[in-house]
Amino acid sequence: MNLFANDCFCNDATLVKHYLCSVQYTLKKSLGQHFLRDEKISARIVEAIIAEKPSRLLEIGPGAGAITKYLLPHDEMEYLAFEVDEEKVTFLQKNYPAHQQQFLLQDVLTADPPFEGEFMVAGNFPYNISSQILFKILDWQAQVPVMVGMFQKEVADRVAAAPGSRTYGIISVLVQAFYEVDLLFHVEPGAFNPPPKVRSSVIRMRRRTEFPAMTSKADFFKLVKAAFNQRRKMLRNGLKQLMHPSILQDSFFDKRAEQLSVKEFAALTFQLNSSKNTSKEL
Ligand code: SAM
Repeated sequence: MNLFANDCFCNDATLVKHYLCSVQYTLKKSLGQHFLRDEKISARIVEAIIAEKPSRLLEIGPGAGAITKYLLPHDEMEYLAFEVDEEKVTFLQKNYPAHQQQFLLQDVLTADPPFEGEFMVAGNFPYNISSQILFKILDWQAQVPVMVGMFQKEVADRVAAAPGSRTYGIISVLVQAFYEVDLLFHVEPGAFNPPPKVRSSVIRMRRRTEFPAMTSKADFFKLVKAAFNQRRKMLRNGLKQLMHPSILQDSFFDKRAEQLSVKEFAALTFQLNSSKNTSKEL
C-alpha cells in the first residue's frame, strides 16, 4: 500500500485517480517515508543544524524537501543530499533546478563520504535503518565532526543513555566513545505525514576532542558487542572467547555490561587476547 501526499491511503485501484487528482509523489512505507509537515519543526531542526556553522553538509533522505527548503538558502555552506528514492530525487531536481546536481540518487549505506575533508551530517532519518546510519557515521567519524538528526525516540534514548539504565547498550557505548550526545527536543507523530506509531527525537552528536584510550576501534567494537551479547549475565560470560581465563577471574567481571562506563570498556581493550597493548590510530 502506498500513502499519497494528500493524506489518503490508496490501494492500486485508486492509485491513478489520486495521482491525477492532486498529488506529485507517493509516500513509500518501505523507505521509512514519514515526511515532516509541521513547518515549525522543520525550521527548528534547521536552526540546530545552522547553529553548528557547517561549511559542508550532507543531508540524508531529503524526501520532498521539508528540511531541504530551509537549508538551500544557506549558500555559505556546500550542500549535498543522498536520497535512495528516484521519484524524490526527480521531484527535488524539478523544484529546485538551481540545485539539481546536489541531489544525488544514492543509498547512504553503500556510499563513500561525499566530500573530501570534514562535513556535517543531518536529516530526518528513515527509521528502518537508524542503527545502520549511526554505524555509518561512526565509520566516517574522522570526517564527521557533528550530526544533527531525527530518530525514533526509542533509538535516540538508546544513543544518549547513561550506564546503569535499561536502554544503555551497544549503540550508546560506541557512539558516546566518539561523540558527546545531546537530546534536543521531541516531536509528536502528528508532525509527520503519515504519522508514525512512535514519538521522535532530534539529537545532536558533537565529536569529542579526545577519545578514551583503546587499542583500536575494531577491538573496541568487538569487545562491546560481545559484552552486550549476554547483557543479563556476568561480563565474564560474554568475554570468554576474547580474554584469558586468568584475567576473567577478577571480581570486576562479576559486573554486567550495562554497569560499565565507556572509559571502562575502552580500557578493557588492552586486556584482549589479541591485543598488542598499544594504542593504534582510530
Ligand atoms: N527529510 C524528509 C522530511 O523530513 O520530510 C524525508 C524524511 S523520511 C523520514 C526519510 C527519507 O530517507 C525518505 O525520503 C527515504 O526515501 C530516504 N531514504 C530511505 N532509505 C535511504 C537510504 N538508504 N539512503 C538514502 N535515503 C534513504
